[in-house]
Amino acid sequence: MTLSGSTTDTIAAISTPPGRGGIGIVRLSGPEAASIAAQLVCLRQPLEHARARLADVLDAADDKAARIDEAVVTFFGAPHSYTAEDLVEIAAHGSPVVLELLLSRALALGARLAEPGEFTQRAFLAGKLDLTQAEAVRDLIAAQTLTQARQAASQMGGALSRRVAPVKQALVELIALLEAGIDFAEDDVEVTPQAEIARRIDELTPPLSALEASFARGRIVHDGLTLAIVGRPNAGKSSLFNRLVERDRAIVTATPGTTRDTVTERISLDGIPLELVDTAGLRSGHGEGAGEGQREHVQEAEQLGIRRSREALADAALVLIVLDATEPLNDEERRLLAAVAERPALVAMNKIDLLEAGHSLPDCATSLGAPSIPRSLHPNAQSSCVGDPGVRNGWEAIHTIATSALTGEGIPALRGRILALATGGAAAEPGMLTSLRHQQAIAAATSTLADATRANAASIPHEMILMDLYRALWALDSLTGQTTPDDILNLIFSTFCIGK
Ligand code: GDP
Repeated sequence: MTLSGSTTDTIAAISTPPGRGGIGIVRLSGPEAASIAAQLVCLRQPLEHARARLADVLDAADDKAARIDEAVVTFFGAPHSYTAEDLVEIAAHGSPVVLELLLSRALALGARLAEPGEFTQRAFLAGKLDLTQAEAVRDLIAAQTLTQARQAASQMGGALSRRVAPVKQALVELIALLEAGIDFAEDDVEVTPQAEIARRIDELTPPLSALEASFARGRIVHDGLTLAIVGRPNAGKSSLFNRLVERDRAIVTATPGTTRDTVTERISLDGIPLELVDTAGLRSGHGEGAGEGQREHVQEAEQLGIRRSREALADAALVLIVLDATEPLNDEERRLLAAVAERPALVAMNKIDLLEAGHSLPDCATSLGAPSIPRSLHPNAQSSCVGDPGVRNGWEAIHTIATSALTGEGIPALRGRILALATGGAAAEPGMLTSLRHQQAIAAATSTLADATRANAASIPHEMILMDLYRALWALDSLTGQTTPDDILNLIFSTFCIGK
């Protein structure tokens, strides 16, 4: 797909997903869209802008042709269409046979098969959408939670572009000021003082920094996160997993486990897509009531369970370590805690109902070296850490939540902590950066502005400062697509689905 000259032909595609459905749509865009549509189906009335027309779909192009479907044809005349070109949508029944017939005949009549995202690319090339808005179209289609859809819709409405626009405007004004000083130096145009340049550049930095900071939340809303639930067999991982999934069951989509012994479910935690990975397997290792002969097998299985947990946690962004509050910590658990000390991790001290029911002192808690833990095990009194403040085990900073998967105690607190861990406390805001491409554009603008500040402070000639300012402008323009190289544009649009 080339960006230049590509809009002179007429493109066609099936715009509805593959498979069967109530309705299927073939879309045409380009100068010949209306004339091809008129030959493709037998229209009962002539096409008119934004009006639906009934038409018959025939099974062949000759006089022996018979009607195989009835379609609704809608025409949008240039420039008042999605692509800003003449655009026709033929909505037939969602039969792949009918849709393939319509498409192949459209191609025979002179249309070209659309590349993925080519309709949206034409809208972008015609200036109907900027690049962030075009990307939002793709994100809306790909959204898995309502929050993701809302985020995409807001970006599609230009929220991100609107946030960047005032910074760009101020930058352009500064460039104009310096250019004037250079161009009209002989005409007594006053040279902008160094302090004025510094002030103007400084003013650009806070909004750009705020934008960059929004990536923390924007990224996870866009991409979601994986949370690995790890721990020894029987600690209650699966039970906690089910508790976490339960409330969201209406909106979860089950994903088949990718590893033999892991179960994965996608939930929405406050709109953030979270993939929970339960290293559940090893049911055979559950040794309740196991006889002497089985003990060895159980121990072996437990070791294997910890190993699998380690594998799962290697891939996950967040880790939830489940400990059994009634059991002493074992060496593997100590190693696990130490291994996640530097990562976003949480500890669920599970089965607290047993403690409350008068079960023996929590060996686990004491072995963590924290005599205060039994008191702080109350779900509403989350201890801030596990471990003895006096003895540096490396995992002191890991937040501990007391839970009972059995009674549900501590589960809301656990959700809250997972969310806090996922977002790092960053709140949702309009016009967030959602992709690495966005973040890199803003980071490039910020760093070239820092170069300009240094150059200005060092009294370097304005011509050189201008070069930095132009680089910052170029970076901001690349965000909205004005200066994005063709190959990058092609890459972006190739991630769209066909027919969009
Ligand atoms: P996993 O092997 O870590 O996935 O552990 P499971 O979730 O399969 O739980 C092991 C056993 O502990 C099961 O019999 C659960 O019913 C029980 N269990 C899990 N969580 C709790 C809890 O909070 N309190 C009590 N009393 N039992 C629990």
